Amino acid sequence: MTARLTALLCVVTALVGACTSDGTIIGAARAVDTTVAESPSASSIAPTSSTSTSTSSTTSTRPPAVTAGLAVVPPGGAPVYEEDRDEPAFTIHEGILLGFDDRVGGFLEVVATCNQTLWVRAREVEVIPKARGAGPTGQADLARATIVIDPGHGDRDWGGVGPTGLAEKEVNLDVADRVRALLRSSHDVDWATGMISPGVAVPAAAAVWLTRSPEGPNNGDYELGLAYRSHIANSAGADVFVSIHVNTVPTADPIQPGSEVFYATSVPGSDRLASLIHEELIRGFQVFSVDWKGGLILGARARVDPGTDTDYYGILRRANMPAVIVEGAYISEPEEEALMRTAEFREAYAAAVYRGIVRFLTTPESGEKINDPEVFTSDAGTPNTSACGVPRQP
Ligand SMILES: [Zn+2]
Repeated sequence: MTARLTALLCVVTALVGACTSDGTIIGAARAVDTTVAESPSASSIAPTSSTSTSTSSTTSTRPPAVTAGLAVVPPGGAPVYEEDRDEPAFTIHEGILLGFDDRVGGFLEVVATCNQTLWVRAREVEVIPKARGAGPTGQADLARATIVIDPGHGDRDWGGVGPTGLAEKEVNLDVADRVRALLRSSHDVDWATGMISPGVAVPAAAAVWLTRSPEGPNNGDYELGLAYRSHIANSAGADVFVSIHVNTVPTADPIQPGSEVFYATSVPGSDRLASLIHEELIRGFQVFSVDWKGGLILGARARVDPGTDTDYYGILRRANMPAVIVEGAYISEPEEEALMRTAEFREAYAAAVYRGIVRFLTTPESGEKINDPEVFTSDAGTPNTSACGVPRQP
């Protein structure tokens, strides 16, 4: 908590300029006059053209110095710097995404995977400028859309665990990877049946990012803080932010799948996005004959903290764009856990999220049901990142 607060304070302080005004926030940047950091001369320290395998850059002309966006750690890793230190603290692992919204000379201020503020050299990462975004109504040309998919949990944070030991973190990552694959290609969609096939009617999205990806350390099994996850979506300039999960501890025995989708109350459009994804999940999962478990509330829903009247879930509270948390089914139930081991279920989960995102961005449809936010007084548990370690390049 202390580390997160400190990191947050520094971000806030940096926004008002005090973090850099005394020139001591980062020793490695002391030699650079921040007042000229954005002058044309800064272009000499701007990143060179992309050499990585990322396919998500959409701009052909790049400003002299990008001040907000994503930094992709390239093959071989990248040195990261702490405040007031001239020497790199360590080399962060290749394949990790870092969001930044400040730049001092050739250095980018990033939020690292355990929520801490660190710095990287722009020339030592692949810099992706922040996308402009479609705005809160979410009406967008899919071909220009930026989408961030967040596989919940990772590493020692397993999330829910099934009766035979299947970990939620593993299911989430595979489903998210499948959503990314769908969004990166064009398709035809039969909206009457939900069938997705190769075609050109629905174009590929301009950019799709996973907060935790198989290209990262340990094949994508690494830990992320909640602030980091939202910061990636905000820094990417995402039009849509979807966090993928599966559920535990059902309270009802519904006829239909017990899928739940939570929306961010602070960003208009999040409720519509949640409703559309929920509708598609119910449709997509009905091909499976399972004794579904679930809860009492059907449709899109939200939880607010009674003390602050803001979103209970930190990942939604911090998001600047339409954002949802998807709980596809119940991993704690033997039949549903068995289903989650199959490629068919994972693909159906991903296809439903894909169709929901496409409908959200390209139609004014609202889906079947949007529930009002509930005051939530229980403690669903906040991940403790005090023992979280940023993956290092071996
Ligand atoms: Zn979860």
